[in-house]
Amino acid sequence: MPKVVVRAGLPALVLLGALLGLTGAAPQGGPNIVTPSTIEKLTAELAGKYGESERPRIERGVKQAAQFWRKEDGDETAFGEVVRAEVAADSTARNALFSRMEFAFESLDGHMNEIARDFRRQSDLDIGEIYPFDEVLAGYDPSAHVNDDFFANRLAFAVLLNFPLTTLEQRLTEGEKWSRRQWAEARLAERFGKRVPADVNMAISEASSESARYIARYNIWTHHLVDAKGQRLFPPKQRLLSHWNLRDQIKADYADGKAGLAKQRTIAQVMDRIVTQTIPDVVVDNPHVDWDPFTNAVALAKVKDSDSATSPDMKVTNAPEPDTRYATLLATFQASRKADPYSPTAPTLIARRFDENRQIPEAQVRAMLEAVLGSPLVPRVAALIEGRLGRPLEPFDVWYNGFRPRGAHTEEELDAIVRKRYPTPEAYQQDIPNLLVQLGFTREKAQYLAAHIVVDPARGSGHALGAQRRDDKSHLRTRVEKDGMNYKGFNIAVHEMGHNVEQTFSLNDVDSTLLQGVPNTAFTEALAFVFQAHDLELLGLAKPDPKAEALKTLNDFWATWEIAGVALVDMDVWHWMYDHPDATPAQLKEATLQICRELWNRSYAPVFKKKDVVLTLGIYSHMIDSFLYLPDYPIGHLIAFQIEQQMEKAKNVGAEFERMAKMGNVAPDIWMKQATGAPVGPHALLSATEKALAIVTK
Ligand SMILES: [Zn+2]
Repeated sequence: MPKVVVRAGLPALVLLGALLGLTGAAPQGGPNIVTPSTIEKLTAELAGKYGESERPRIERGVKQAAQFWRKEDGDETAFGEVVRAEVAADSTARNALFSRMEFAFESLDGHMNEIARDFRRQSDLDIGEIYPFDEVLAGYDPSAHVNDDFFANRLAFAVLLNFPLTTLEQRLTEGEKWSRRQWAEARLAERFGKRVPADVNMAISEASSESARYIARYNIWTHHLVDAKGQRLFPPKQRLLSHWNLRDQIKADYADGKAGLAKQRTIAQVMDRIVTQTIPDVVVDNPHVDWDPFTNAVALAKVKDSDSATSPDMKVTNAPEPDTRYATLLATFQASRKADPYSPTAPTLIARRFDENRQIPEAQVRAMLEAVLGSPLVPRVAALIEGRLGRPLEPFDVWYNGFRPRGAHTEEELDAIVRKRYPTPEAYQQDIPNLLVQLGFTREKAQYLAAHIVVDPARGSGHALGAQRRDDKSHLRTRVEKDGMNYKGFNIAVHEMGHNVEQTFSLNDVDSTLLQGVPNTAFTEALAFVFQAHDLELLGLAKPDPKAEALKTLNDFWATWEIAGVALVDMDVWHWMYDHPDATPAQLKEATLQICRELWNRSYAPVFKKKDVVLTLGIYSHMIDSFLYLPDYPIGHLIAFQIEQQMEKAKNVGAEFERMAKMGNVAPDIWMKQATGAPVGPHALLSATEKALAIVTK
């Protein structure tokens, strides 16, 4: 992809080029400037010149190029000239074209990626104030015109005349028998499977930046959350980014007994206010007001825990945020659909996400998620949790994390350990080789990997930004507070490091840079989860025994069940927006709340014995700024289970991780079959959960 944007607060890479629809199969429609008789004439002429045996590939190429030829490219005579010049005479010429493109696009993609990374530096990194011009830089997409340029200068036609465009169906069926070279050719041709105008790409890029900014600033100053008696449950200066830090605070509070429960209920109430947009506008990222989220009363702050000055035009009222959350989501939709007319075989963002980015049909993904949601294992695991908590379940218990060994330590203890080890990003950087050796990589391999990773201080919660050319490095962005890294930051950093290691292998150690990467983001998430699952061991805190492993499985099952619903809401909301393209933010809010309530009532209420809850299904920030990204998380869990089981079989995380990450960007099911012997599916998770229940309830 020519462009990768990774936004602050998004703990994963998003291939924006893919979002824009720069991949995919041949359009069927189009302006049809080139007539069938011209196609036939040119094919016959070149078959006569290069040999009848060459006719099939010539005909395919001419037809492909004709689909994308527009008025502004010239008349049919001009088209004929391009065809005669660019159809390869023989395999020598065709091989030359292939290797030139492989070399050139690595350079182009890699450098575009670097430019975008540098332009976003101030906005992504915690290195001082963001001025208006920084936002302009961050919103700029240097590769926005690249595709247009290559159609204008005919390079796109050279590729389309000589390499086949493929459909998802072909890649899923015939792809299994393809050679690596055939796969690389398919990926090369895909680059020109769409012709989206630059102004449309630019509009999407701007909506993406704007939504990321909205999310990255959405902090809650928890010391200023007060109860009816004016009591403060949270420590001074604590600033929690929605939703990541809020959710993780709920998780951490399981280790804090009765006091923890009060805090959890408060955070859950804050989340409900955010989702329903009844949150007072003035409390967002503002340490100068106190707020009771239950009564929704606000008052001038009675304590000061921030150096920042009060804004002179601050009005202490509980006037709600004016549906900005949904206006922001709507803006990403409106920008996305501008690309639809230029994407005839995937004419919605939904289709582009599933058929092209994930390469798993939406119906198949929905079926996988429903299999988890409706699993008979759910009530059994829920009963176990209720027993362990010794109280009826509450909605926020979708984030129950007491199955994890981590629950044995308070957040404060973990923070202290991490803070001491990693006072600065540099300290983490220096420790990467040791961490990788602990994960099973050889010392030599660990050094090699560490040399390809740069650690930066993140403004958001953290993310990984891979390189796209072999002389560049991947970046690990982690949030380090003034007094050092805390445990949340470490947990995320280990996850991101998993991405960085995958990115390093899948760029530098694949056989063709045209196949760099993994089949879709769920795969890189799955590999990152493998790392993240070992975070406590990396701190020297827990050695997993069979019981601990079983608990971890139950933890993951519960998390997958939770996020499967969130993903389905994301999918349904995007369908609703496509069905109601003229909706207002208020209407989108109502529809989203309704979708949340319906799914909750169907799949979660039977477990929690409470109806119409929206806070858990609606709080994810990704839903607002990530263009239908959320399904990647549950798919990632399912894939992670398949990979984790394979790791167990192989007994060596390091070597297996490397073998898998080097397979590159082939179709998901094909990748998974080569990696584990089975296609992508929920079976590994469900069978592991069944076994884990037997161990834990024995
Ligand atoms: Zn991730």
